[in-house]
Amino acid sequence: MDEIRKVNIFANEEANSRTVKKRLKTKLEKAGFTVPAELDAGAELIVCIGGDGSLLTALAALDFPDIPIVGVNTGHLGFFQELRPGGLDEFIFRYKEKQYVIQELKTVKAEMVTDDGATVAKGLNEIVIRGARSHVTQLNIFIGESFIETFRGDGILVASPAGSTAYNYALGGSIVDPRLDLLQVTPIAPINNSAYRSFTSSLLLPPHLSLNVFPEFSRNTLNKDEDILITADGAERTFSHVRQIHIGFSAERVQLLRFAHYDFWNKVKEKLL
Ligand code: NAP
Ligand code: MN
Repeated sequence: MDEIRKVNIFANEEANSRTVKKRLKTKLEKAGFTVPAELDAGAELIVCIGGDGSLLTALAALDFPDIPIVGVNTGHLGFFQELRPGGLDEFIFRYKEKQYVIQELKTVKAEMVTDDGATVAKGLNEIVIRGARSHVTQLNIFIGESFIETFRGDGILVASPAGSTAYNYALGGSIVDPRLDLLQVTPIAPINNSAYRSFTSSLLLPPHLSLNVFPEFSRNTLNKDEDILITADGAERTFSHVRQIHIGFSAERVQLLRFAHYDFWNKVKEKLL
């Protein structure tokens, strides 16, 4: 008996994406694949229809699955998306012929320790730490064992190489080739004057070093005890009484399917420069 080959399709809510999803489902079934109605743990591939945001949503919803994922861009920036809606037949042909490469992308992880316990957030792009309200946020920052400074500003962003082209880039951070193995810590509106010193450019960390952040809630200075907002790939959560935040690379890897002619710097030129 032939083995059942399942492909999951994940689409955003736009009418165009739903139409592409229907077309792709028909084509995949014709080519001998099964497309389960629900997201299926036994699938061999995830196809995500939308923009980068939908790919990030799909990864989070599936908790960073250990199978390849490929994106079909339906009119967004589509930095992660390898396919266009007009290229579905060619994609199915090449997929069956195994004419593709897997781009392995590292993910970042933050562990928030509060009075109520510990919570983990994961992201392909980045983790952002900021105050829940529009006050200056004070963060005592350690790299490894070394105390760096009490940062004051809106917050900090920790980007993976793959996330360097997203929010990190808009903040003046550097574009990192994802073949490099580093975490980028980028300040968000750092206060740097004669009273306060906060780092003003991105810090690049090797993979084994992690960042420890201790929010400071002093009553007599810039901010009172206030909640911390943690954003992982655009998904935000508010935490009260945060004692410590530990950030580093996560064990999960995203396996992004690319065609053999994929080139990171060509994509950067096409989409960003
Ligand atoms: P969104 O508001 O649609 O995202 C903002 C833009 O970032 C979209 O154009 C998105 O592409 C693009 N993008 C996402 N990941 C990227 C990457 N790795 N490289 C280059 N561009 C990328 O929200 P979303 O679609 O849910 O995406 C969440 C991401 O938005 C977050 O992870 C964060 O990086 C980014 N963001 C950016 C800013 C900023 O630039 N000031 C502020 C907040 C958040 P698509 O159009 O294909 O979705
Ligand atoms: Mn988007």
